[in-house]
Amino acid sequence: MQRVALITKHEKARWIAPYLAPLGYEVFESSIFDTDILGTFSGEVERTLSPMDAALTKAKKACELTNTDWGLGSEGSFGGGPAPGMINWNDELLCLYQASTGIAIYAHAAGPTSIQDLTLNGRVPIKQKLLLHPKQLWILRSEKGVQGVLQKGVQKHIQKGLSAEQLLDSLEKITVSSQKVTIEPDLRAMNCPERQQMIAKAAEDLVRRLSEACPQCQAFNFVVKEKQSGLPCTLCTLPTEQAKSWTRICDCCGCRHDEAVQQKGADPTYCQFCNP
Ligand SMILES: [Zn+2]
Ligand SMILES: [Zn+2]
Repeated sequence: MQRVALITKHEKARWIAPYLAPLGYEVFESSIFDTDILGTFSGEVERTLSPMDAALTKAKKACELTNTDWGLGSEGSFGGGPAPGMINWNDELLCLYQASTGIAIYAHAAGPTSIQDLTLNGRVPIKQKLLLHPKQLWILRSEKGVQGVLQKGVQKHIQKGLSAEQLLDSLEKITVSSQKVTIEPDLRAMNCPERQQMIAKAAEDLVRRLSEACPQCQAFNFVVKEKQSGLPCTLCTLPTEQAKSWTRICDCCGCRHDEAVQQKGADPTYCQFCNP
């Protein structure tokens, strides 16, 4: 087995390790480094690195601090996607890094997510909204806080990792009407089931990349990285933006492999001439 270090306080190995084990990689967790210094979801620490740089930094740190050849970095982000502001979107990125070769493989998964901030007003009672997200934990921010609750962290009056029950309990204790209260999903992996599923999907993508070897140099990640557009329109035969082939590329030796698509032509809907 190849040992792969994953630095996390958020139990992420649970959704990654089972996928990598059959390929001979044993993912182990370490909390030797506080990844929160690279940014947090709840805003105490602003994120300055791009997700790819953050994932690579975490993977490199994992190798360095645990003295392991393989390191894994995980970075999630919310927002963006095809319809920002309309559809909530979750991106999960994994970076597998090998210290001895300097090779980095990025895997990712993205898709819509139903979790979002909750509002106390509106027609649907808060209890009912919480029922839609079983096992999701929450963050409660309030101006004055809850009496008798110890506040942790930089921001005052913030409670993290609250179950639906605990959240309702806290809401009862604070006089909501006299202060501003916000309820956000706790997006840390162990508290967010929808994110857990997306991390698992990214792990599946990593498995796919580790399973495709370059025919020339045997390096991993010989997957499709480029699209060649120009599939001819079935009506007028002019080239369209639709893919006519996909190209697998090796990051190590540059070997390229074109794979033509099965379709003979593109639907005229995609044609600039027939359907401008
Ligand atoms: Zn190669
Ligand atoms: Zn056409």
